[in-house]
Amino acid sequence: MRAVRLHGIGQLKFEHVDAPGALAADSVRIRVQAVGVCGSDLHNFRTGQWMSRVPVIPGHEVAGEITEVGANVSQFRAGELVVADSRANCGECRNCLEGRPNVCEHMGYLGEVCDGGFAEWLRLPATRVLRVPTGVEARIAALAEPLGVALRVARRLDPAHAAPILIAGAGPIGGLAAIVLEHLGFGPLIETWRVHSWWHPSPARASSPLSCSSCSANWTVRV
Ligand SMILES: [Zn+2]
Ligand SMILES: [Zn+2]
Repeated sequence: MRAVRLHGIGQLKFEHVDAPGALAADSVRIRVQAVGVCGSDLHNFRTGQWMSRVPVIPGHEVAGEITEVGANVSQFRAGELVVADSRANCGECRNCLEGRPNVCEHMGYLGEVCDGGFAEWLRLPATRVLRVPTGVEARIAALAEPLGVALRVARRLDPAHAAPILIAGAGPIGGLAAIVLEHLGFGPLIETWRVHSWWHPSPARASSPLSCSSCSANWTVRV
């Protein structure tokens, strides 16, 4: 199958590799339809911070169609659209055993400790995928993981009605947080992002340029 593999810092290669082999009884086979490029993918590519094995197929924001289920999988069937749970917790540490796998002491991630979604095919335990509601396209469903971060932000922030909210950074997480907060009726929202020399925003979007007094960064504010 075609895949993009990380071989080391700054070494990303488009390759033909063997597709995942026989399915374990508790696993599902997924034909990847959409995969996001996370900020952590870029960071890992540049620094190797989460590079625990190479070569590895990165990509943890994955949506795809189940094409085959293992013998013991009854909760999914072929043809269903699913997204991957990006976490790969150990299931054995104290936090995992106490029902808090989100703070696993040995947490790894799909696309880091095992091959991820920058490929045509993916094989995952059925417990690590979630069904996508009918009518949601794969390219939207692939945003489920970063959207989960934005939902968590909105829930933790619990803003007062009509209180202004500053969102520092308008990458995918900041943008999704803005969409969620606006959808929930909060705001006004103020979103800032860094102006790069290569970026030429439309006059409407770059209406209020700011300079930071403590560093040399230029920022743009849109209200
Ligand atoms: Zn991500
Ligand atoms: Zn654990």
